[in-house]
Amino acid sequence: MLEPFPADLAPTQDGVEGPRPAGGGTRVNPKLVIIGGVAGGATAAARARRISEEAEITLVERGPYVSYANCGLPYFLSREIERRSNLLLQTPEGFARRYRVQALVRTEAVEIDRAGKRVRCRGPEGERWLPYDKLILAQGGSPVIPELPGHDAAHVFRLWTVPDMDRLDAHIERYAPATAVVVGGGFIGLEMAEAFRKRGIATTVVELLPSVLSVMDREFGACVAKELEHNGVRVLTGVGVKAVHAEGRTLELSDGRRLPADLVLFSVGVRPELGLARSAGLEIGASGGLLVDEHLRTSDPDIHAAGDMVEVVHKVSGRRIRIPLAGPANRQGRIAASNALGVPMRYSGALGTTVVKVFEATAGMTGLSERAAREAGFDAGAAVIHKDHHAGYFPGAKELSLKLVYDRRTARLLGAQAFGHAGVDKRIDVLATALQGKMTLEEVAELDLAYAPPYSSANDPVNIAAFAGLNDLSGFAPLATPAQLQAALESGERPLILDVRSDEEFARSHVRGAKHIPLDALRERCEALPKDRRIFVICRSGFRAHLAVRILKARGFGDVVNVTGGQLSVVAGGGFELEEA
Ligand SMILES: Cc1cc2nc3c(=O)[nH]c(=O)nc-3n(C[C@H](O)[C@H](O)[C@H](O)COP(=O)(O)OP(=O)(O)OC[C@H]3O[C@@H](n4cnc5c(N)ncnc54)[C@H](O)[C@@H]3O)c2cc1C
Repeated sequence: MLEPFPADLAPTQDGVEGPRPAGGGTRVNPKLVIIGGVAGGATAAARARRISEEAEITLVERGPYVSYANCGLPYFLSREIERRSNLLLQTPEGFARRYRVQALVRTEAVEIDRAGKRVRCRGPEGERWLPYDKLILAQGGSPVIPELPGHDAAHVFRLWTVPDMDRLDAHIERYAPATAVVVGGGFIGLEMAEAFRKRGIATTVVELLPSVLSVMDREFGACVAKELEHNGVRVLTGVGVKAVHAEGRTLELSDGRRLPADLVLFSVGVRPELGLARSAGLEIGASGGLLVDEHLRTSDPDIHAAGDMVEVVHKVSGRRIRIPLAGPANRQGRIAASNALGVPMRYSGALGTTVVKVFEATAGMTGLSERAAREAGFDAGAAVIHKDHHAGYFPGAKELSLKLVYDRRTARLLGAQAFGHAGVDKRIDVLATALQGKMTLEEVAELDLAYAPPYSSANDPVNIAAFAGLNDLSGFAPLATPAQLQAALESGERPLILDVRSDEEFARSHVRGAKHIPLDALRERCEALPKDRRIFVICRSGFRAHLAVRILKARGFGDVVNVTGGQLSVVAGGGFELEEA
């Protein structure tokens, strides 16, 4: 139920009354101090003003800018955004003019005196104490730079703020580096690899884990790596960094190899900015973020918090985690300000919905990956399809890979991942909405989505993936993921792999040991197949294997499964021995 806007804040003939401070009283001009002036903090300040015309709002920001587009920084470096000024969304003067918010830049909050309800700040004019009735912390995080030999050399960078971007840009302009190494294959690292390529720099991405974009399942990371390589970025996975050598400009890998590196960018994660909160004695959560309740209140009822520094509930797993993304930070800023000023609002958690452009391709996800779902204790199933993003007969159709992860027990959707050259963001957003509504596969299958040939197919890929999942759960056409096939092969149960692609496709490449019967010959030749072994049917993408499963089931083969996502997913995920022409 939506809570009504509190009567004591509703506009009156005399203007707008301020909220009541905690503990009673009728203060009409509460003092609100916000520490951190970018995504969460700037949103909180603007929302606070919309709630109360009387509140005295002060925004304290350590850096020289407030409210800038940190998500846009890689795109200025790639020159897709041409004007640096487009990244600066608001200025202290603009905040003062429009919102009557005092924005103090180049000012660091260095101490919170909770008993005295004041914050000690250090800025261009020296130190001062700012009193508050309510305090909002929106300090974000800072990128981790591993303390390796050479990590502080002049050609080693990070990218988190506008000054970081300026330094990097100036270095590229001045020294025209020929080679760059991006350490870390996460979202920002990949955006920066693309930016470097677009500036003409030969770029390598080094990722310690087995695949880039490791928050997604491995086969999606592999698709992303392929796109990077296709665009001239070298990708090295499963290897760490040992040292940066300024002399000779090389980067030494953990396996002893050396890469040329005129420029090194570390993008290996973000640590929440918790020093201030810790020394003020605020409680830290189990995942290492600042603990807040559903009203984004910290362990001190007069201090709220928002953004990268807090830990929140994952809406699917129910676990408390950190989700350092701009959408949650902005929404939390809005909610924190509302609660701080006496307008009750709840924050119910996040799904970790995210999307990234990788040259011409897009990868995105929402909710839990297959791996994360299993780790969270779900009996997780997965359906993978590779379909055209709109009607195949309409020019410009591009293949879209879509994976749904679901709970085998309840059929509830748990997560989705997608990769392709068109239509990814739309599917991820539809599925994020489905997750928010706690939909089952049945409900996703029924979604009545917009269709005309230039946009989709009569059954959208979202519907088709849900059909596949439902067919799996009902036993109509059971699915196995490539990982399950691999486990069966390793278990010694001697499953049969039946490849139903054409002669040419099979000859080009197939899983070692697979038996080949093209789909159209299966009805005639299936008697030769054993009925006492589990049969994993595989085709290119899963559709022909689906038909094959139905043919075999109708002929009394009891234990037949479709390898979901087919050869495409098997090859992308890796780990299989292939026989190739
Ligand atoms: C290059 C880049 C690309 C990104 N791309 C995306 C994207 O595409 N999609 C997405 O969802 N997210 C993206 N993000 C992440 C997103 O920007 C963050 O999740 C979001 O900005 C977090 O908001 P926040 O308010 O918590 O922290 P921030 O926006 O980091 O702001 C925190 C501010 O607090 C200030 N501060 C900290 N301590 C103090 C102190 N003691 N005194 C005064 N000021 C202090 C800091 O200087 C900082 O400016 C990207 C981030 C970067 C850096």
